[in-house]
Amino acid sequence: MVVTVKSMSSADGGRVRPGFRHGGGTVKGFVHKDQFPRPNLNDSLEGEIQAFLTDEDQLHTYDDLTKVNPVTPTTVLKCLQARYNARVFYTHAGCTLVALNPFQPIPDLYSVDVMKEYHCAPQPQELKPHIFIVAEEAYRNVQGQLEPVNQSLVVSGESGAGKTWTSRCLMKYYATVAASSSVVKSQDIVGRIERRVLDSNPIMEAFGNACTLRNNNSSRFGKYIQLQLDRSQLLVGASVQTYLLEKTRVACQPANERNFHIYYQMIKGATDEQRKDWKMPCGQHFVWLPNAEKTVEEDCFHETVEAMVHLGINAERQREIFRILAGILQLGNVNFSPSTDESQPCNLEEQSKDFLQRAAELFSIPTEELQLALRVRTLKAGKQSVLKPCSQTECSMRRDCLAKVIYAQLFEWLVAFINNSICADKSMWCNFIGILDVYGFECFQLNNLEQLCINYANEKLQQHFVAHYLRAQQEEYVSEGLQWSFVKYQDNQSCLDLIEGSTVSVFSLLNEESRLNRASDCKMFRVRLEKELCDNVNISWDKFSKVPHFTVAHYAGKVNYQIQGMVEKNKDPVPPELNSLLQKSDNSLLHQIFTDKETDNMTSKGLSKVTVVSKFKNSLESLMKILHTTTPHYTRCIKPNHDCKPLTFKKEEVIMQLEACGIVETIHISAAGFPIRIPFTSFLQRYGLIAKYSNFQSESDCANLESDNQGLQQEVEKVLRVVLQNQDVDLSHCLDSDKHNSWV
Ligand code: ADP
Ligand code: MG
Repeated sequence: MVVTVKSMSSADGGRVRPGFRHGGGTVKGFVHKDQFPRPNLNDSLEGEIQAFLTDEDQLHTYDDLTKVNPVTPTTVLKCLQARYNARVFYTHAGCTLVALNPFQPIPDLYSVDVMKEYHCAPQPQELKPHIFIVAEEAYRNVQGQLEPVNQSLVVSGESGAGKTWTSRCLMKYYATVAASSSVVKSQDIVGRIERRVLDSNPIMEAFGNACTLRNNNSSRFGKYIQLQLDRSQLLVGASVQTYLLEKTRVACQPANERNFHIYYQMIKGATDEQRKDWKMPCGQHFVWLPNAEKTVEEDCFHETVEAMVHLGINAERQREIFRILAGILQLGNVNFSPSTDESQPCNLEEQSKDFLQRAAELFSIPTEELQLALRVRTLKAGKQSVLKPCSQTECSMRRDCLAKVIYAQLFEWLVAFINNSICADKSMWCNFIGILDVYGFECFQLNNLEQLCINYANEKLQQHFVAHYLRAQQEEYVSEGLQWSFVKYQDNQSCLDLIEGSTVSVFSLLNEESRLNRASDCKMFRVRLEKELCDNVNISWDKFSKVPHFTVAHYAGKVNYQIQGMVEKNKDPVPPELNSLLQKSDNSLLHQIFTDKETDNMTSKGLSKVTVVSKFKNSLESLMKILHTTTPHYTRCIKPNHDCKPLTFKKEEVIMQLEACGIVETIHISAAGFPIRIPFTSFLQRYGLIAKYSNFQSESDCANLESDNQGLQQEVEKVLRVVLQNQDVDLSHCLDSDKHNSWV
């Protein structure tokens, strides 16, 4: 049961709709949707679009895209462009906030004064659209009108669109407005929890971000941070969950991209003494350190070290960390040449010997054993062990594998350490605001398992959005008996079934092939995909292509996935010899992270019993479970141009992103829908006073009438009529007394 309270609602703050030319029906700020006809999408809109677009001078004033009329990709795009040109970067799109990346610092847009302005405003929604409105709304919601509700801020967009920037802004906002230390006036900045929470960012970004073709500070992992609030809504701690670090980057950097920032920070920011200790003399070329000449803002070693200190990583631990990282770098310069005698292991190239020795020293393991572990495989035959020399390719794979596993374990250890340092005891906090910053949809010419996982995560988030907002809202209107013509939206369930379905899906076939561990697994994987998924409309093949691949029709577009190497990547094997070697390390951190590692999760062949995709699927499922228990707020970041140029708006590039996230459908539903819904009882508790004669103001009145829906309705009408100054407005057509769960 819905009564619209459009212009008066707090959701759009009573703002006037500048482009509103459909007149007729506003009654003192109350508009019913039947009195506010939406254009039919199928009509020819050319004339209207033209009329709208000639109003160019005003376009930048549309602070909510639901006010654009008619809502079409063209009008929405024009409006965003006009705002961007007028240096306005945030625009509401109904329930979503659209954030355009300015690609240059905007003075005072995120200052503490601005934060306070939004935080202290009685109706923040009446202020200019800003990420702080989303932040403040979540902050106020967390206490809930009736009961506390955890909140999630979901930030999405393609690489370089501004997700991480936005997440940082949100964290800074809460660290400022919900600072618990300000209450105790602690001068000890290092000890402050909000400082430590913020300091987790530079550390995780140094180790998990890299300079890519699309973003100089591209996050190569997903992150969900929960900010823990106590009963007084003060920030008392936080916990971080990370997803799928792109560890291959440590041993293989795509052309014109870089390794993780931390390496460049080390070579640029270390003292001579440190460089000596890490065996990284000036001028030394490292294969795994390409494009070192490129300097980016993030090459800030000092900031990372300072954050480590704040979080409690002492000098001794830091030394261990940097020596491990330096050891990995040395490995990159180690090469093998085939042996003339096939029964003998490959040779170490002459110039590689020093690098291998340095790597062993930095890892604090015996050089001889490292050499052996890289070049010889131990096969178990019953109780006996047989040594088998590795081919040149196998040796290189073992070297890369060693680098990747060490880096990934180190990253995991860091995240655990950060959590230990910032997580509050469960007794101290009662609610959380979660901020989700995951990698955006990726589509290269050819894509690998990493992209399949990333795009699968995006499908899951899109499904959450569709389920939570688009479908739920429309279904509710229909069940409330409102006149409503369904707005079509893309439901991506079938694509998700294709990827993760429990019967036959890409993941299930991939896992089966990984477990069978047969020699020609990629060939078999391909054959089975084509055979067992031939009827699925979401997958296709180009049988004539030189590179075997399959194409998935994602909600955001078609993506080609290369089959070669996919099964192996999914198995993610770690030779057991390498594992046991690292456990022997005298570097206490290295020893710890490999001893703690669940070795019983490994088969004797070094295969993990859980594959990459099954682990990722599980972690995403738990994330979705958390998201479902929270009230979500969506922010869609848009990258106005692919060259990351300041203040440059490329229409073709923006429209593709708008289409990919279904923004036009969202606006349609939001525009035609009801911006605020309050249960009758809450409405009466809050506004009952307006109608002096309403005898329905206290909680006990509510309790008495709770089951009397008709009584509730009459009381609501009384209040509304007072607000409407008793005008003779027919409210009956929008009040339906059948349902108990009533909304105003
Ligand atoms: P994503 O996480 O979506 O890949 P980032 O958040 O790293 O993208 O943003 C990419 C770059 O864009 C940032 O390093 C920064 O230079 C710029 N940027 C993003 N958002 C803003 C903003 N609101 N104001 C100024 N610059 C921004
Ligand atoms: Mg990012």
